[in-house]
Amino acid sequence: MDDVVNLMSRRPPLDQVLAVAGELSAEIIAIAKALHSDPEISLQEMKSAELVSGLLARGGFAVQRGLAGLESSFCAEWGSGVPSIALIVEMDALPVLGHACGHNIIAAASAGAALILRRLLNEDTARIVVMGTPAEELGIGKIEMIKAGCFADIDFAMMVHPSSRRQVIKQFLGLAKIRFTFHGKPSHAAAYPEEGINALDGVIQTFNAVNAMRQQLRQDVRIHGIITEGGVAPNIIPARAACYFYVRADDLQELEQARERLKGCAAGAALATGCRLETEEDPRIIAPLKILRSFYRVYSEQVARLGLEEARTPGDRNKGSSDIGNLSQELPTIHPHVPIGEGINIHTEGFAMATVSTRGEEATVEGATLLAMTALELIFSPPLREEIIREFHEKDNNLY
Ligand SMILES: [Zn+2]
Ligand SMILES: [Zn+2]
Repeated sequence: MDDVVNLMSRRPPLDQVLAVAGELSAEIIAIAKALHSDPEISLQEMKSAELVSGLLARGGFAVQRGLAGLESSFCAEWGSGVPSIALIVEMDALPVLGHACGHNIIAAASAGAALILRRLLNEDTARIVVMGTPAEELGIGKIEMIKAGCFADIDFAMMVHPSSRRQVIKQFLGLAKIRFTFHGKPSHAAAYPEEGINALDGVIQTFNAVNAMRQQLRQDVRIHGIITEGGVAPNIIPARAACYFYVRADDLQELEQARERLKGCAAGAALATGCRLETEEDPRIIAPLKILRSFYRVYSEQVARLGLEEARTPGDRNKGSSDIGNLSQELPTIHPHVPIGEGINIHTEGFAMATVSTRGEEATVEGATLLAMTALELIFSPPLREEIIREFHEKDNNLY
């Protein structure tokens, strides 16, 4: 009991948290702006990693670079004790569009939260780890870093993502990627068509079979693909054609079934056209986000303490996928959204611009502050940590 009283007496009051966040706000915004002005795509986030981890190193964090065989990954840690809290940094931009997913804000908010906590805590109160996870857009960084054991001694993980709305809970779909290559036989398309085997027909039949199947798919399932190879000239029967599909679903069981049915469509198309089918499945399955109400409640309470209002958009609308889903299956994780402008959707030029607008700056500081406040709740309330961990273990595992 004395320990709890002692712990509570060391808990920084809200006005102190806000004062520190205010003092650091210019530095936090500067991170988002610096990344925005020099966007780097997935797996090439070297300068971004240098910038964020360098800042944390100067702030007293012990930095390791290049974990899990990923050059642009990093880990920056400070403090000791229980709990270990990971603040997730994403850094990758999109080709051509720059920071149209706003990962510059993610990096600034997580690094900013870490710097705020560093100023508020004693070194032995908790362990704060900023994890630089590359290539979110390709679904690589977190999956590889989990595999390499980077999160093995982390108790809780947090990040915020910019969005058009302040949506605290939003679901993410599981995602599997699969490529089909059809091998046929070339022939003159007019003179000797009967001697050819048309690989493009294999691809077209696959799409037709998938489209026929849609009616019998569960509502949350998404199957969408592109043709990546379709022959070389109209007067040659295509000897080779290829397509690339994403399959998504709310849970891994449904995802697995949808993926098998998609493979069935391609196999049927190969049989119908006489082609040989080659199938290549990406071993990195992106897991759906495991949503822990108790953990999100803590974040929501901090939103209310700041006098901010949550968007009441249902959490199951407009869902994408992210490798944060994989992390959420490993340990309690939250991924709430901070608002940078109503009606501005991610992966657009407008969104990239909005990340450095006045609204974008406010969202960046809001994210850093809310993450720091949420971390303080976890650090100074052992029963809360137990509740979240209990929910994590009770929740049926969509394990992959
Ligand atoms: Zn994105
Ligand atoms: Zn993103």
